[in-house]
Amino acid sequence: FVVPDFLGFTKDIEEIYWKCKSNTDGKVASYIPQLARVNPDYWGVSVCTIDGQRFSIGDVHVPFTLQSCSKPLTYAVALECLSQKVVHQYVGQEPSGRNFNELVLDHNKQPHNPMINAGAILVCSLLQTLVHSEMTLAEKFDFTQNWFQRMAGGENFGFNNSIFLSEREAADRNYALGFYMREHKVFPEKTNLRECLDFYFQICSMETTADSMSVVAATLANGGICPITEEKVFRPDVVRDVLSLMHSCGMYDYSGQFAFNVGLPAKSGVCGGILLVVPNVAGIFTWSPPLDPCGNSVRGVQFCKELLQVFNFHRYDNL
Ligand code: GLU
Repeated sequence: FVVPDFLGFTKDIEEIYWKCKSNTDGKVASYIPQLARVNPDYWGVSVCTIDGQRFSIGDVHVPFTLQSCSKPLTYAVALECLSQKVVHQYVGQEPSGRNFNELVLDHNKQPHNPMINAGAILVCSLLQTLVHSEMTLAEKFDFTQNWFQRMAGGENFGFNNSIFLSEREAADRNYALGFYMREHKVFPEKTNLRECLDFYFQICSMETTADSMSVVAATLANGGICPITEEKVFRPDVVRDVLSLMHSCGMYDYSGQFAFNVGLPAKSGVCGGILLVVPNVAGIFTWSPPLDPCGNSVRGVQFCKELLQVFNFHRYDNL
């Protein structure tokens, strides 16, 4: 076993869980009514080790939409299907140092990285035009959903239609990003911008649980092999790229501080989720909707910090 004393490990996780539960700081995302109405008390943590041992506590079976936690997943699919060379002809690897949805491109007039909106919208256009150009829109959705399910060991990914409709309704900034990128000829030639943004909103609106997302995190922790099904979902070089950018760009405008303090690859979303990867050990997913001013889950960030007080998981521990 990779975690020999799994029971002892889960006791520590449980203790941290209760410690964070009493933290009621932060505000739930309010840019669409469906997210604004979410119960701020929801708090769940799920762990899946790379040898498939699982532990969950709290609201781990309540569905929520992926939002930006989907970004490393779509990026991974694009790398797997197209190669690093092709994907990074279109998008960079640099933290933007700006808000996740800021109207800004890098020196090459490309999105800074695939973990912010501009980069993720671009990755959606790559999937649409270069990977599944022959597919119908419905097939493109199914294709992506199937990939996500394979990462999660076959567990279900649903779709929240009212969130999708609201996302699309409240998307002025994402449309602005799309037009700005089109002006600078960032997209592959055949891109249909409206379809590309729809696809992006659909992926943000995919619905899952903390329990299933911990398996996704574990597939990344395990170099691309799902610990539950033992299926080889991604090549190791794909996972290396995904984890590298999660490490430097995954936590909005707090990414540098998170890399310093926690030293683990992670990706958060306005749903209140944090996908946390402990390479070669385990995948962890925390979900609690109230967010700090950077857009990261308050309890989630606290959990990661407390975890690092107990375990030497930081990339540069053990020197
Ligand atoms: N659907 C949101 C947007 O594109 C996702 C935001 C997020 O989770 O960071 O604005």
